[in-house]
Amino acid sequence: MNVLPFQVVQNEPLLRARGVTIDYASERGTVRATHDVSFDVWRGDRFVLLGPSGCGKSTLLKAVGGFVAPRAGSLQLDGKPILKPGPDRIVVFQEFDQLPPWKTVKQNVMFPLLAGGTPKREAEARALVWLGKVGLAPFADAYPHTLSGGMKARVAIARALAMQPEILLMDEPFAALDALTRRRMQEELQALWEENPFTMLFVTHSIEEALVVGNRILLLSPHPGRVRAEINSHQFGLHSAGGAEFKATASRIHNLLFGAGGAAHVDEAVPAGRAVQS
Ligand code: ADP
Ligand code: MG
Repeated sequence: MNVLPFQVVQNEPLLRARGVTIDYASERGTVRATHDVSFDVWRGDRFVLLGPSGCGKSTLLKAVGGFVAPRAGSLQLDGKPILKPGPDRIVVFQEFDQLPPWKTVKQNVMFPLLAGGTPKREAEARALVWLGKVGLAPFADAYPHTLSGGMKARVAIARALAMQPEILLMDEPFAALDALTRRRMQEELQALWEENPFTMLFVTHSIEEALVVGNRILLLSPHPGRVRAEINSHQFGLHSAGGAEFKATASRIHNLLFGAGGAAHVDEAVPAGRAVQS
């Protein structure tokens, strides 16, 4: 692995979540999505929020994005409270069909840059650089409907990283892809991070994806999401999936989430050589 500039001493986390409780008002009263969640994301982290469906992962990501306000607790980016959305936090969602179909791949990547006031020439140059990094330079002038799911995912990632956010927020970005493409995207994301280290907050309900993609994993309990544990996973990459230590950690995570023999609402790790099921 590369030596990262982020390995310099950091005194403060980039993102600090403290006692975050989030409620939704619904017709039948208040729904508590997360309860008293605290964590720190340091620069260069690939920090994963892992938990079963409905435990509040997307809600936490939206709160970091500034789209949802916590009922209690605080969220700070670089020491400043998060009060609204901003270009320092860019979200990549699961639905890649959010790429406007009438814009080419390049225009899609340029769009948020132009909207943020970047001059056209610079926006175009940056779009081409990031399309190159995700292997889509030859498709700059193609339209989204001509691309595969994996290619659309790459456009969404290029579009987000071209904005040079302080933190990239990813909400189950590969969940809609077939198993092999999903595996390949995990690999490409890892390679992209090694070449251009960025900070990422990544949401998934797959234990294996969390171990492969993340360097630290926050385990959230079922609804409402509370912190169960935090696990280091920097030692695992794509090539360790299926190894003994990987399997042992996956099963430890499973037990932490559900107790030994508990119901498996989260994907379990799969044996070596098998594709990841989403
Ligand atoms: P996850 O992403 O982990 O699957 P979510 O953050 O989407 O979980 O949802 C957490 C809880 O909050 C769930 O019980 C869900 O039904 C509820 N919830 C999410 N969004 C809303 C909303 N807009 N209004 C009311 N309840 C919501
Ligand atoms: Mg979700």
